[in-house]
Amino acid sequence: MNQEIISYAPATGEEVGRYPNTSAATINELVGRAQAASYQWRALGFRGRKTVLRAWAHYLAIHIDELAAVVSQETGKPLSDALLEVSIAIDHLSWAARNAGKYLRDSHRFSGLLLANMSTRVEYQPLGVVGVIGPWNYPVFTPMGSIAYALAAGNAVVFKPSEYTPGVGHWLGESFNQVAPNANVFFVATGGPETGAALTKSAVNKIAFTGSTATGKKIAAICAETLTPVLMECGGTDPAIIDRDCNIDKAAEAVLWGAMANAGQTCVGIERVYVHEDVADRFIEKISLLARGVVAGREYGAATMPSQLKVIDSHIKDAARLGAEFVVGGIDSVQPPYVLPTIMINTPEESLAITEETFGPTLTIRRVATMGEAIALSNASKYGLSASVWSKRQGKAIARQLHCGMVSINSVLAFTATPSMPFGGVKQSGYGRIHGPEGLREFTYTRAVVALRFRIPLEFATFKRTAFTDRFIKRFIQALNR
Ligand code: NAD
Repeated sequence: MNQEIISYAPATGEEVGRYPNTSAATINELVGRAQAASYQWRALGFRGRKTVLRAWAHYLAIHIDELAAVVSQETGKPLSDALLEVSIAIDHLSWAARNAGKYLRDSHRFSGLLLANMSTRVEYQPLGVVGVIGPWNYPVFTPMGSIAYALAAGNAVVFKPSEYTPGVGHWLGESFNQVAPNANVFFVATGGPETGAALTKSAVNKIAFTGSTATGKKIAAICAETLTPVLMECGGTDPAIIDRDCNIDKAAEAVLWGAMANAGQTCVGIERVYVHEDVADRFIEKISLLARGVVAGREYGAATMPSQLKVIDSHIKDAARLGAEFVVGGIDSVQPPYVLPTIMINTPEESLAITEETFGPTLTIRRVATMGEAIALSNASKYGLSASVWSKRQGKAIARQLHCGMVSINSVLAFTATPSMPFGGVKQSGYGRIHGPEGLREFTYTRAVVALRFRIPLEFATFKRTAFTDRFIKRFIQALNR
């Protein structure tokens, strides 16, 4: 294993930094230190942790330009996109810090008539140490969805950033140390897949993984050996459904952005459109016109991971071979390090561009006769991350029938910027949730605590239980269930 990993700027291929390729031994040491420090962190309580995490959010807000520059350099995305990403991540950190106490405080439950002499409550206990493994496409926003919520819930975190964005991970670790030096509750361990595997096999109490479905399956298999719980935020081929009564101009503008922003390297990016045949021509004309004004290298950057270019190219060529027609771009859309905006129509549903995640600025559009057909085609995917629905009258009704974790009606990707809303998928897009109250609880385990308030003559958890008690319980249950 190499001692270092090298980070390159995607647009130029120039080296921009070297970082440790953290070994399994160091990972185990960091997890041990995090475990030891986690008790103090937990003892700080919600208020104490809120103070630290809000100080971190404040630090990030002050240094937002610096962090955005590192993001832009390592991912190749425009600075403005990097700023937007960091801004939303700070909002999540702040929300988690402010709301952990509200959503994770003990909750009292009705003890039931048979146990009316007991008090019953549910506690949300931190798990201990959470290992966070992140991707490169949103190297601040995505891992922060786990890091902030896990820390706010009282856990320590060891974070393994993507090998394509180690500088961003390193920067985040240093920034936390500025506000909480020697707290030992947030470690960043740079490295490649082997470092991620070592973290998965370490003594962490949960793995929060965001990345491809293929890697997610490997991680879930390792976690299965020790029954280590795991949160899976994986890929998708998210659809947009366009009904005939929607605002076509707005839909075209938003869907184009949802598909091509960040060079299409967005887990919840739109890859498929199902449009009602009555408005299909207008929609295709409008979105094509807008797409022709999008310039690779200006509205979005170079592909962050050079190997993805081959995947995108193979999806485009496969679609063309199966009969897709290009209305924007073409068979030569991949022009390293960029991919030109590409829109295909009449793409067969069995083509890779529909069945697999392309992760490029490409879009397939298919005409449908009914919204029922659009829903069925949307649900036919093995993935189920998010969807966008455009309809004036039927938006909610269509959304309800989609098998996915998140839906935006008459908008795209809106759920990402709303800290109170849970984020995650179904099927091969993963399981578990980040963000919102659900995201806080994801990093806790529930504990049931039942306490005696006063004694009553009817004791049944004893070998001295009487025949009278038996008769009473029986009649009581029969009376309640008549
Ligand atoms: P990836 O699966 O290649 O890598 C993700 C992380 O896993 C990296 O840090 C990598 O080093 C690590 N890793 C690789 N092999 C490992 C192993 N065997 N054991 C442990 N760790 C290992 O994914 P990527 O290319 O970095 O990210 C792109 C993917 O992430 C896309 O599929 C995208 O849809 C998905 N994604 C999902 C979400 C979401 O919230 N659902 C968000 C962002 C990205």
